[in-house]
Amino acid sequence: MRLLITNDDGVHSDGILALKNAVEPLGEVVVVAPERPRSATGHAITLHKPLRLVRAKMADGTPAWSSNGTPADCVTLGVLEVMHGDVDLVISGINHGPNLGWDVHYSGTVSAAFEAVMIGFPAIAVSVTSWDAQIAWEGVAQVTVKLAQWVHANAARSQLLLNVNAPNIPASELKGIEVTRLSSRQYVDRVDKRTDPVGRDYFWLGGTLLDHEAQAGTDVRAVSDNKVSITPLQIDMTATSVLKDLKSLENL
Ligand code: MN
Repeated sequence: MRLLITNDDGVHSDGILALKNAVEPLGEVVVVAPERPRSATGHAITLHKPLRLVRAKMADGTPAWSSNGTPADCVTLGVLEVMHGDVDLVISGINHGPNLGWDVHYSGTVSAAFEAVMIGFPAIAVSVTSWDAQIAWEGVAQVTVKLAQWVHANAARSQLLLNVNAPNIPASELKGIEVTRLSSRQYVDRVDKRTDPVGRDYFWLGGTLLDHEAQAGTDVRAVSDNKVSITPLQIDMTATSVLKDLKSLENL
């Protein structure tokens, strides 16, 4: 199996090293990742300045490629320039922090996986849903290995995108896997207005999650139940359910 590994936390992060080490026995593994953290960059791509691709070292000194581009840029460069299209699967992660519910639209981790699908390869985005300094990578890394094998056997050359989120607990405490749908994810008190030392206003985006209705069957609920959540995502955002009802607009 030929695997491209990327992320949005940067080539030096612990999560991408944990992922690379876990999947290495599966075959040939190429790492192309941002040279610095690029979380919450969504599906941005670089069109108006030079994109660089340079030799880099991961946290343990392992050789890799890094780019000044976004996570999506790294997938494009990795698949087309480094691996010349000879790729079986792209895996993005392991992200340090959640990529749950509607937040996937902000996610560089998930967008890198979407870029793979748009180019023509199946992809897995993997996250641990915690900002803690200490992360238990092992459990979700091993689930990712099994998923990679499954995708290779069952969904080669497909548009399958699996968004995986795991709680930050030891592998022995995980309560299994649940296939889920995205939860809604809304925030209150999103804008924190402050004053800088010279008296000018500035703003800090954050807020508190309205997660109280994390329904059964959603990714948020599965993770809160100590399970690994797997949500299949699709690139086509057409609101298929209302297409027919809107046909009348053609006669406005
Ligand atoms: Mn990140």
